[in-house]
Amino acid sequence: MNDVLIIGTVALDTIETPFGKVEKALGGSATYASFAASFFSNPSIISVVGDDFPKGYINLIKKRNIDVEGLKITGRTFHWEGFYEYDMNEAKTRKTELNSLEDFKVEVPEKYKNIKYIFLANIDPEHQLQVLKRINKPDFVVLDTMNFWINNKKDALLKVIKKVDVLLLNDGEARQLFKTANLVNAANQALSLGPKAVIIKKGEHGALLFTKNKHFSAPGYPLENIKDPTGCGDSFGGAFIGYLAKTKDLSESNLRKAVVYGSVVASHNAEDFSLNRLKDMTMNDIEKRYKELQDIREF
Ligand code: AMP
Repeated sequence: MNDVLIIGTVALDTIETPFGKVEKALGGSATYASFAASFFSNPSIISVVGDDFPKGYINLIKKRNIDVEGLKITGRTFHWEGFYEYDMNEAKTRKTELNSLEDFKVEVPEKYKNIKYIFLANIDPEHQLQVLKRINKPDFVVLDTMNFWINNKKDALLKVIKKVDVLLLNDGEARQLFKTANLVNAANQALSLGPKAVIIKKGEHGALLFTKNKHFSAPGYPLENIKDPTGCGDSFGGAFIGYLAKTKDLSESNLRKAVVYGSVVASHNAEDFSLNRLKDMTMNDIEKRYKELQDIREF
């Protein structure tokens, strides 16, 4: 049974890193997030692609048992062009072509309406709001976004933040959104808007989980082979919610485990371009690295 609903982009990405380049490769926040979630749960996606979207990519998504009834096909596919320099923590955007995303009317298939774990992955916050309006009483809603929407749709984004349980941001976005250099201050501002937890992702340096009275710091896995960090944030979010949907335990200590699973899956994702690593990854690979992270932290 479908237990996680993800709205986000399914994209064609043109990416350049110091280690190579891909053109119009499979990408998008919903794609990375659903692949990551599929190791723990049965995700469904809501998104849109164009007639130009290769059939082979849809087959790849279906092969991971991701439900695509909510994937519309119309116009041209969303295309993102970005690059990274040696500091791979920061993606630089060359071009964002919204294409079919511009007139996307969110529809939620009937069979998705009772899904309890919802991931509002990176997409227009107005679309995120529409999903929330159309579903029945979710148990747990996680929200992700990026600088593009902070710059262009800040009011709508603030509205969504007030309706979710967990806000995910990377450090740069947290500073930008809350106009502060200090991440503790940014997290407190975010918590004061309503979410019960805020997770600030710090790229290769791991992630911080803030709840009202506590915080937790998950290390980043010290990767030797990194090719392309695109989708690490989305993979983090997908694994995080996938693990929680599987365990159905929203305690602080289980949120910490979910953060570590998020870090682990994101670290694997950075080892290759596009979905190349996640499509071949196994649960064994995930568990092995999870244990290594436990060892790294022990003192
Ligand atoms: P990240 O996890 O932040 O590295 O996400 C990378 C993915 O986000 C890429 O595969 C892009 O297709 C997608 N993306 C880039 N810009 C946007 C945007 N403005 N809205 C939604 N998705 C985007």
